[in-house]
Amino acid sequence: MLEEFFPLDRLERLLMELEELEDRETLNKDRQNQIYPTKSSQEIEQTFTEILNSPSQLVEKRGLLLNIQKEWELVKTNENNLLISLKTGNITVQQKHKLLVKEHLGGTIHEIRRLKDLLKNFQADDNLRQARELKKRARTITAIVLAIAIMMVILSGLILAQSILKPLKLLNIGVAHFGDGDLSYRIALKTQDEIEQLANTINGMAAKLEQSQQALRELATIDGLTGVSNRREFNRRLTVEIERSRREGHPVSLLMVDIDHFKKLNDTYGHQSGDDALRHFSALIKKEVRPGDLPARYGGEEFAVILPHADRSDVFAVAERLRTLIAAQDIEIQNNQRVKVTASLGCATFPMDAETEESLMAEADAALYKAKKSGRNRVCLAKREYFESSDLIVS
Ligand code: GH3
Ligand code: MG
Ligand code: MG
Repeated sequence: MLEEFFPLDRLERLLMELEELEDRETLNKDRQNQIYPTKSSQEIEQTFTEILNSPSQLVEKRGLLLNIQKEWELVKTNENNLLISLKTGNITVQQKHKLLVKEHLGGTIHEIRRLKDLLKNFQADDNLRQARELKKRARTITAIVLAIAIMMVILSGLILAQSILKPLKLLNIGVAHFGDGDLSYRIALKTQDEIEQLANTINGMAAKLEQSQQALRELATIDGLTGVSNRREFNRRLTVEIERSRREGHPVSLLMVDIDHFKKLNDTYGHQSGDDALRHFSALIKKEVRPGDLPARYGGEEFAVILPHADRSDVFAVAERLRTLIAAQDIEIQNNQRVKVTASLGCATFPMDAETEESLMAEADAALYKAKKSGRNRVCLAKREYFESSDLIVS
């Protein structure tokens, strides 16, 4: 837009110079000598052509230029008339044409200034329009940037939720399991960060707790010397099995085993040897019964075995096999010494021999007592007697 002003300024300047020359005394002489205004006029004509050929966004420009040119044409016409009148020497006509030249020069300059003002206003409007456009564009860009920022915040929130909240939820589920006593549960996390480390630490704690719980459970249920169940566990299991038998209708047998003349073994070889014999004895019983049976140390040198699903003949067969094995084996005791022991066994079966837990115990005990009374190394069934030979043999 600025470049449109330069030729107009030049045109204005050239015309103003001409206007100034009009006031000079020597002008008419110059005119006659054709010194004036040939050079300026040519420049003015060239500038007009230049302005008309240059494109413009201002639509009114061409119309105003035509006005300027019209005025300029009148300047030139009157200039010619003046020259003619200068030759004729008619002062009145000369003055009239001179005035007209000045008037149209002023008109041309005036029209040029009008065009310049219009261009200035147009320029100002254009600047305003551009500023508005810029503002609008800036707002659009700000809105886009804001939308992208919001999307990124939401996205990072989702990523955060995935990477932190999900593992935390898994941790929470794991801890809830442990809180409910399910210590075998393990938190499965593979996030390779501090949360996974925390999960591993918690899993480790649960494993240790599980181990010590298992150890405690064993301590509470297992006999320390022999490794078979203790009397408390025996009582608990007997109650369970009798209840099950009542519900399901199958028999449960009870076998009581007491080592014969154990006091004598203790007295002869010492308490440590007695302990060795007890360990050997319990291991043998454990090996000879089925996995579903429960061998237990009932007290001192007395053992008991619960045999679920075993009837009278089943328990007798087991008892007889045990008695024979015990009697046949040497037991290694302290100082590489070997001894032979025998045992007396009493059996009773629920519900054939007794209808309650207590009476079943009493019947098995009575059978054992009978086995002792009738010479030891024997198996006695409740309400029936079986006799076998051999007593405690100490070698
Ligand atoms: P019986 O044939 O009539 O059963 O005679 P017994 O000597 O085996 O029976 P008694 O009840 O007279 O003696 C049992 C002995 O068992 C007495 C006790 O010192 C011993 N005893 C009990 N518990 C243990 C133990 O844990 N270790 C050892 N070494 N001996 C024990
Ligand atoms: Mg005994
Ligand atoms: Mg005894």
